[in-house]
Amino acid sequence: MPSLHRDVVIVGRGIAGLCLSVFLQRKGIEHFLVVKEMQQKVIALAETLPPSAVAMIQQLGLREVFEESALEKTLGYHSLWGSPKVQDVNFYFQHPYNYGLKLDKQLLLEKLESCLDSHKCVQCKNWSWKEEDRCIRVNSAEKVFDLYGRIFVDATGRKKALLRKLGIGSTVHDQQIAFSCHLPRIRHPKIKHGVFTEAFKGGWGIVSTLDQRTNVMTLYAEKGSPQSWKMREYHHWQTLLSDTQILQAFLPGEVLSPVFVSAANSICTNEIAGSDWLALGDAAIAFDPLSSHGIANAVYTAWQAAEAIEERLGSDSDLALKVYSEKLRKIFGAYLVTRQRFHNNQVFFP
Ligand SMILES: Cc1cc2nc3c(=O)[nH]c(=O)nc-3n(C[C@H](O)[C@H](O)[C@H](O)COP(=O)(O)OP(=O)(O)OC[C@H]3O[C@@H](n4cnc5c(N)ncnc54)[C@H](O)[C@@H]3O)c2cc1C
Repeated sequence: MPSLHRDVVIVGRGIAGLCLSVFLQRKGIEHFLVVKEMQQKVIALAETLPPSAVAMIQQLGLREVFEESALEKTLGYHSLWGSPKVQDVNFYFQHPYNYGLKLDKQLLLEKLESCLDSHKCVQCKNWSWKEEDRCIRVNSAEKVFDLYGRIFVDATGRKKALLRKLGIGSTVHDQQIAFSCHLPRIRHPKIKHGVFTEAFKGGWGIVSTLDQRTNVMTLYAEKGSPQSWKMREYHHWQTLLSDTQILQAFLPGEVLSPVFVSAANSICTNEIAGSDWLALGDAAIAFDPLSSHGIANAVYTAWQAAEAIEERLGSDSDLALKVYSEKLRKIFGAYLVTRQRFHNNQVFFP
């Protein structure tokens, strides 16, 4: 079997995998990024990067790439969450950046990929893990070959494709699931920012401006709950949101896309790193989208992973990977505490 050898083999072309590839390239660390042709359709969600993360992407030399991929700068958001009054969370006093970014994620992925030398990406139809040789067997359109690395990285998001092959399980902290669709844009007199969040009985929802003509709305509920079954079909949304103060006003009669379902639960892999592998981004620790932590976490873990990998490659010890793992575990622990506070506060129903 033909084989190729690199220091690092990353699986998954999301923000985490691409950022890690960019950081390793800057360090001159030889690696491959395995990109699988995915059949799954995606929907633009207009994900928000909070102001606190803008400072980090500036520090990492990625602010330009992110800003070029932004649909707009966001100056705040509104919410009806644990209070009968609409809250205006204004970013004006945030320091050093008083704005967040609403991202076109597909464009961001393309821009990050364009930062890489083209030979770094290995496109394939599928791949498998060969435990006996500790390598990845890649099946591309033209040939089959083995990829060997000193370190393997799972950057496949919630799919955790490599972790599963390594037999590593996860701890699930809730069963939240998301239902998203594109709607004709409606403007609301009380909502001046492009993002609004409201809790309702058995769930919560968010509406965000995508462009001049489109809003994207996502509803969240626990998987298997009566609300979650209804959320699958747009024609139930009017009834589901009938008790909301504001969210229902964003529902037009027509809909511009089917309803897309995605996992949105809090989940942490049982092991974040071993002696010759690590996980990052959603594959390692995945957050409730309410937190707006997901993209910042993908970038941060890629940064920390690049540092740990550099140290690991230069030594016989796997201490750097252990420290990386501990750091992520602490972050996830702190997040769970905050999340509990937010959801306990979800007490206001009109
Ligand atoms: C409804 C919703 C709204 C969200 N809103 C926000 C928000 O406003 N702000 C925010 O910060 N975050 C938000 N998030 C979270 C954020 O999108 C994710 O946390 C972030 O994109 C994770 O990046 P990642 O690179 O770790 O994983 P992913 O983006 O999932 O990337 C994983 C990559 O791996 C690939 N892959 C999967 N399986 C395989 C395989 N077998 N082989 C090879 N490749 C594979 C996938 O195709 C993909 O390219 C939201 C999430 C959801 C579900």
